[in-house]
Amino acid sequence: RAKTSGRSSFRFFEVDMDASILHRTLLEQRLRAAIKKNEVQAHYQPILDLTNQTIVGFEALARWNDRDFGQVAPKQFIPIAEDCGIITDLTEHLLRAACKVAKTWPDHMCLNFNISPVQLQDTTLPLKVISILSETGLAPDRLVLEITETSLLKNPMSAKTILEQLTAARISIALDDFGTGHSSLSYLRDFPIQKVKIDKSFTLKMNEDKESAAIVEAILILADGLNIDVVAEGIEQPEILQKLNSQGCHYGQGFLFGAAKSAEGITTLLQNELPDNETVPEGAQPSS
Ligand code: C2E
Ligand code: MG
Ligand code: MG
Ligand code: MG
Repeated sequence: RAKTSGRSSFRFFEVDMDASILHRTLLEQRLRAAIKKNEVQAHYQPILDLTNQTIVGFEALARWNDRDFGQVAPKQFIPIAEDCGIITDLTEHLLRAACKVAKTWPDHMCLNFNISPVQLQDTTLPLKVISILSETGLAPDRLVLEITETSLLKNPMSAKTILEQLTAARISIALDDFGTGHSSLSYLRDFPIQKVKIDKSFTLKMNEDKESAAIVEAILILADGLNIDVVAEGIEQPEILQKLNSQGCHYGQGFLFGAAKSAEGITTLLQNELPDNETVPEGAQPSS
């Protein structure tokens, strides 16, 4: 009897597997086509200086809306792009578009852009990024590449060389989702990293959970000692903002300030956000 049920549950398992492989194959085909047709696009989420709540830049976040699958989350399609070897194409396409968009923002605003672990194995990455910058005219010191701790694990020497080439070109590196991965503090000493982003899982819970609060506090103290900028992700509540501010966390992003919006949405936002002293006073004449 046990044998029979074992066998039948194995068959169910197979059926499930088939369905998910089919689904994935379909997603993969759709994703390839979508990239070609320019249908995967970056949206932009504001990053703020928490001391005065002004926008200092935006993080580009990939968005894909398929006609049948609907809005597919990047957590779902980025791994597919990585596995089937189209992440390089996708990144180049998104980065080029994002740099063009960032070029239209005020000069002091940065563009944060996520780089997959796979790409930190690609020794041609620095050259590709630098050529996209020169092609689009975005100054390298306005670009922040976000990497994760896992990117540094697989081939640390090669990753280090790539990061050194990028920073030599005045591009900044941020360690994303800080505190979650195989956090080794020595990364901050051994790799050229100028910024860390506190993972939202800590920020979201820091008012209700002592451990999360302690981790946030420790990251802030550590970063201060290492002269590294900190961005807190996932700020949703005013109380959390207040607490981070009082602890000396300089930068942040989260739904409290706004989710990612299309390039056009950001243009509108920036027009409305401009402080009074930067708008053209009524009746003023252009001086040319
Ligand atoms: P990430 O780089 O850590 O991006 C932050 C994620 O947190 C985004 O999710 C953003 O929408 C979300 N978020 C921002 N503020 C809040 C908040 O206040 N509360 C909560 N609950 N969430 C918030 P998203 O856009 O779904 O992206 C998920 C992940 O997918 C990113 O995490 C990043 O690892 C990856 N990803 C997104 N776009 C790209 C891309 O163009 N290239 C690569 N390689 N990865 C990307
Ligand atoms: Mg990120
Ligand atoms: Mg993150
Ligand atoms: Mg995160």
